[in-house]
Amino acid sequence: MQPPTGLSASRALRVPFGLREGRLYEPLQVESGLQCGCICPGCRAPLVARHSPSGRVASNFAHHAGADCATGFETAVHLAAKQLIADRKMLFLPEVVARAPGIGISGKDFGRERLVSPEGVRNLNAVLVEEDFGPIRPDLLVSIGRQKVLVEIAVTHFVDEVKLARIKELGMPAVEFDLSELREMNFEALKNALFTDAQKAKWVWHPEQELEKARLQALVDADLALERESRLTGETLPLFEEAEGDGAGRAELLRRRENAQREYLLHRSRKLEVPPRESGNRGLSASEQLRKAMALLGTDEARLREVLPVPVTPTGAIAAAPLVWQAAVLSGLILRGPFGGAAELSSQTVRAWVQERFAVPGDEKAFGVAVWQYLDGLRERGLLHHQGRQRFVVAVSGWPSARAVVSDARQGGVVPLAWLQDWPPDHVAKRLAEVFGEMFGASERWKRLGGLLPDLRGQEPPEATVRYYAGNGLDASQVRRFFLAAGFVRLAGM
Ligand SMILES: [Zn+2]
Repeated sequence: MQPPTGLSASRALRVPFGLREGRLYEPLQVESGLQCGCICPGCRAPLVARHSPSGRVASNFAHHAGADCATGFETAVHLAAKQLIADRKMLFLPEVVARAPGIGISGKDFGRERLVSPEGVRNLNAVLVEEDFGPIRPDLLVSIGRQKVLVEIAVTHFVDEVKLARIKELGMPAVEFDLSELREMNFEALKNALFTDAQKAKWVWHPEQELEKARLQALVDADLALERESRLTGETLPLFEEAEGDGAGRAELLRRRENAQREYLLHRSRKLEVPPRESGNRGLSASEQLRKAMALLGTDEARLREVLPVPVTPTGAIAAAPLVWQAAVLSGLILRGPFGGAAELSSQTVRAWVQERFAVPGDEKAFGVAVWQYLDGLRERGLLHHQGRQRFVVAVSGWPSARAVVSDARQGGVVPLAWLQDWPPDHVAKRLAEVFGEMFGASERWKRLGGLLPDLRGQEPPEATVRYYAGNGLDASQVRRFFLAAGFVRLAGM
């Protein structure tokens, strides 16, 4: 074993904490000598406490007989850190920041950065120690609200490539506390390292950071593409600056600007008359397009046909079969990304998107009608909410919930519900609660539901929770649909 770099080899082999009846103690917390009653957390041999009241050297434990063991130090530090976290039920977590770089051909920096969550001390509602957790065994598994976080305590062994790959597979955030550089090893030093920003805790991996990074990168790439195009056409481009301020107003503003930017881009790429062979799906055969759409949704044709196609009356307005182009729009635009790449969309957006990818022979008006009937059909199925005029907003959290909503309506809302293991992120549930408020009124009640529900999971059966909220002034069938749409529950057997 390599001694920790901050400690000399001789000190590293001393045991900073003794184990007695399942708890760890510092030398000065127990009687001196063999009377301490402690064993080595590493080899479980009896220890003697060596008090140093003068403080000239640090008090410590030594093995009563024989040489110090190789594992005593590291095991003691590991266990002591876990004991502190489990006792206090709190933890300092570093900030989560997403960054997407991008230098334009003019040298302008289009890079974006956003704070996903600030650093700070978090209260934990649960601490599980060395829970066997599928492919890995984290030092700790803690719950913060309803988010689960893997915690690694690094004394000499840091998360390696293999473990990182498994963490990503699990999709859970993992934070690592680096205790290798502590100059002293006692409870006070550990408290500083775990509960304050004095020590460098770092995120090994964080799913929300990854999602946000991908989202920002798409915007940066769009800016870079716009800059390149403007160089070609000599046009002046609108600027999409980051919004000022903070909180909900800022988030709303940002969302609108991003939508505006996306629509602008779609508009632009249509004007530029990109040759067919370069325009995404146009080179693909119908069956290839369908396969691509099903792969994006993670489904097969039988399941897809539970939801699509929506019957449209102007036949032939779009050269492809309705199932093919509708599946492409659903997978590539409406439900793209973790929460619908186009959380808000207009029928113009959809028309532009379809025109980029499919042959639209002839009649512009028939084409418009076909797209409109499709969107209205999705509204009827509960996948979209019509906000008025040309604007729609996605009312489900993804393909599984879209299918569940459609299937539940078809079966009359009587199939038993089961809580899902993985819930959507908070912001998705909240955004959907807003959409349901727009659809059904009583928006304050919906907002409360979106915020409160996480605490109820698993405590009551889903049906009882539905009844509870229905008794609270909301319609039971609408609450049921919200649970399915947000991805809180699934239909039993599905
Ligand atoms: Zn030992």
